Amino acid sequence: MDVSRAKNRINELILLLNKYSRLYYTDDISAISDFEYDTLYSELKNLEELYPQLCRNDSPTQRVGDAVSESFSEHVHKNRLYSLDNTYSYEELENWYNKICKEFEKDDIELVAELKIDGLAISLLYNDSKLEVGATRGNGSVGENITSNIRAINAIPLSLSDSKVSVDVRGEVYMPHSSFEKLNDEARALGQKLFANPRNAAAGTLRQLDSKIVAKRGLAMFAYAAIFENDINAPKTHFETLKRLSELGLVTNPNTRLCKNVGEVIAFCKEFEEKRFELNYATDGVVVKVNDYSIQNALGFTAKSPKWATAFKFPPEEMSTKLLDIEIGIGKTGAITPVAILEPVNLAGSVVKRASLHNYDEIKRLGVKLGDTVRVKKAAEIIPKVVAVEVEKRDGSEKDIVVPTLCPVCQAKLEVPEGEVNLYCTNNEFCEAQNEAKIQFFVSKPAMNIDGVGSQLIKTLLETGLINDAADLYSLTKDDLLKLEGFQDKSATNVINSINNSKHPKFSAFLTALNIKHVGKETAELIVENFDTLEKLKIASDKDLAQIDGLGEKVAQAITQWFADERNLKLLLKFENSGVVPQIVEKTVLSNVFVDKSFVITGTLTKPRSEFEQIIKSHGGKTSSSVSKKTSYVLAGDSPGSKLLKAQSLGVKILDEDAFFALLEGRQFDEK
Ligand SMILES: [Zn+2]
Repeated sequence: MDVSRAKNRINELILLLNKYSRLYYTDDISAISDFEYDTLYSELKNLEELYPQLCRNDSPTQRVGDAVSESFSEHVHKNRLYSLDNTYSYEELENWYNKICKEFEKDDIELVAELKIDGLAISLLYNDSKLEVGATRGNGSVGENITSNIRAINAIPLSLSDSKVSVDVRGEVYMPHSSFEKLNDEARALGQKLFANPRNAAAGTLRQLDSKIVAKRGLAMFAYAAIFENDINAPKTHFETLKRLSELGLVTNPNTRLCKNVGEVIAFCKEFEEKRFELNYATDGVVVKVNDYSIQNALGFTAKSPKWATAFKFPPEEMSTKLLDIEIGIGKTGAITPVAILEPVNLAGSVVKRASLHNYDEIKRLGVKLGDTVRVKKAAEIIPKVVAVEVEKRDGSEKDIVVPTLCPVCQAKLEVPEGEVNLYCTNNEFCEAQNEAKIQFFVSKPAMNIDGVGSQLIKTLLETGLINDAADLYSLTKDDLLKLEGFQDKSATNVINSINNSKHPKFSAFLTALNIKHVGKETAELIVENFDTLEKLKIASDKDLAQIDGLGEKVAQAITQWFADERNLKLLLKFENSGVVPQIVEKTVLSNVFVDKSFVITGTLTKPRSEFEQIIKSHGGKTSSSVSKKTSYVLAGDSPGSKLLKAQSLGVKILDEDAFFALLEGRQFDEK
């Protein structure tokens, strides 16, 4: 290829790659597969290596550079970064709004409500569309120049889609919950200190001197403001600015709303007081801004903050309250869970009366006593958690929490099995509480996913004797339900239909629903890949099952024991007679390249492990979590750890990502 053709192709590739990553980050669209993206990326990288003089600074291959030597240099902001006043009350929010309306003699003034992201404010200077400087907020006038790290964040474009634009963009860098969990999982595995929350993790990451580390940690950013230079087409309102930023290729938060008046803003705040727990990032409130720039300019600033904006803060996610009592929950396997009964407290917008304490070890760890003042935290989970005890608030009346010895429902002995921390009710056969939990699990999403059969209905059905086990659900009639309180013709029909519609579950879902010890959703999926019908599984021996890579002896034994139990076989027969027949397993196989090959994935790769697992499976291969003599290949990323050593000692072949794809595509590659 000659230089001019190479140049054209490089420009074309950068355009394409930028387009795809923009679609991915701004619109959540995967226009091409990761594999196709990687192919284009490699082509670009190869061309740049052949023609280094053509390598552009805004090429996606140039995100990660050399480490900064000692510290970051100062950066004087072109335009000051202000902070916002904030309020916890709707009344204050209304007062702020009414004052502005009065000043401008208007009934209503348009506002923009957007989520306040719990991250770090940054400034991005784009000159003629190219990212020149990325800096922290600092004191608002002077921050730190962290351009090398900013470039390593994939969600931040290195160049904008309009080549003439020069703009100072304001954004919030944050760590998505998914990245945060992954980071802490890895730290835990390595015995390192954990980050307290996503905000700290994001802050710590942005201060890394080595941008390679930043690139790996999955930071993201929302742009929320901009000051355009010499732009005759510069937007006239805040909402238009957000739209323009998005057109330029920057990610803006979709949870943003143009509101006619403060009433609509309050509705937005109320909506997200609840919804915020479903988001993949932390938000602590709503930023409210006057939309029209002419009004903004007329209002101006105080010494610290703009008069045309304010922040409404959500009620705190953590509060103090009294621990009144401990209730004992009994799970489907008999696991005992202590539940804290609390003096009702308003937490993040809802009244909380119960919180999880996990197990009695956790009670010991917290040192919590009955009557204690405890800190309760609401997180993404449905049930809040007790996170700490305020020991200084004790008055001597607190009582120790006694570890129970008998099941409160069936009075059987409680035991801690070897190698576990949880207490268990030992009466697996006749404990009513366990039976109820089993049926509840049977209808749940990871299992049979039967809509409309809730925990209250199951309780009632058991109490009235209409069912004794999960299979009995399939002999329920509409008349049975109509006898129960609260049922009408339509609701009864819906429940019966919903039960009948579950008669042909995926085999793995059915297997999950059976409540075999150690067999959860993932294990069930692993099993059905090897035994695709119930008949085959029934007659499988411990030895047969242990052949499955990734399935331990303990699990294999639990399965054969379950199928050896007469009562379970009767239950299976009952299902069969009610017409419950699992579907035959169908596999989507793209090729047979990896047939009979088993892989262990270790270390940090450029994509989530699940994606590699998917590729391996769809080409006929298997994956396992531990290296053994049965392992065909170890796919190793960065910092692979002990699995790599084990593979080396066993003589298992080791692949890096390039070699992996070479193997997949049947290309030559160097073995290590
Ligand atoms: Zn019991």
